[in-house]
Amino acid sequence: MNRITNAKRIVCKVGTSTLTYENGKLNLRRLEELCKVLSDLQNSGREIVLVSSGAIAVGMGKLGMTRRPEEKEKRQALAAVGQCELMFMYDKLFEEYNNTVAQVLLTADNVYSGQSRENIENTFRELIGMGIIPVVNENDTVGTDELSGQHIGDNDTLSAIVATLAQADLLVIFTDIDALYDDNPKTNPNARRIPRVTEITDEIRALAGGAGTNRGTGGMATKVHAAEITMRENIPCCVIGGDTPAKLYDLLDGADMGTLFAAPGADE
Ligand code: GLU
Repeated sequence: MNRITNAKRIVCKVGTSTLTYENGKLNLRRLEELCKVLSDLQNSGREIVLVSSGAIAVGMGKLGMTRRPEEKEKRQALAAVGQCELMFMYDKLFEEYNNTVAQVLLTADNVYSGQSRENIENTFRELIGMGIIPVVNENDTVGTDELSGQHIGDNDTLSAIVATLAQADLLVIFTDIDALYDDNPKTNPNARRIPRVTEITDEIRALAGGAGTNRGTGGMATKVHAAEITMRENIPCCVIGGDTPAKLYDLLDGADMGTLFAAPGADE
């Protein structure tokens, strides 16, 4: 567990269902706790990078819409509205703890092409070096299949790419199911938590299924996909419950929680 307890640079990913209520309004209690915990960890000498979803849902909440629109361009417009609100809240809440945030919006085209990739790596290095907390999301205005040819599509995958680009020691994905289970814990009370995955096999992919909420895009499948990316780079990835952000302290103290995705020895 040393790689986890001693992790200096940590990418944390929070999803829409963690940040917002069903109606798309921000869950302020959770958001405040998240910003406080991350500020505290930053103050303790760790280097935090936050990957945050929620732009579309917050845009919906702000405009009083209750259903996620089918049309791509409507979702893009909502993301443009919601991203401002989201950054406004992060700026305000992190500022309360004397921490500065920076908005980083990425697309698949940027992260996969040589020069832009280098620019992104340089920006992360500079921001982190200045003690700033980068807050990352996909640039939903341009990040569509039609426009870019490639699409990251979900922020779990984005967080794994960011962990690689920022050369993180650890990726933590907060989620509404607190771990990977051997069956669906919502329907089977006897489903057992899988504490550790050392290799992504077809069986693990099958367990992850394809579920997600109608407010975000992730489910366990995208978490497993993210872990596949970080495992290739030898970066441990932990999936833990996002209901109580302070649980991150327990994880970093070495508690056995959630699901750790790391090749044998990769967490030592
Ligand atoms: N970029 C989208 C948003 O901020 C979220 C994508 C996802 O939920 O993974 O709304």
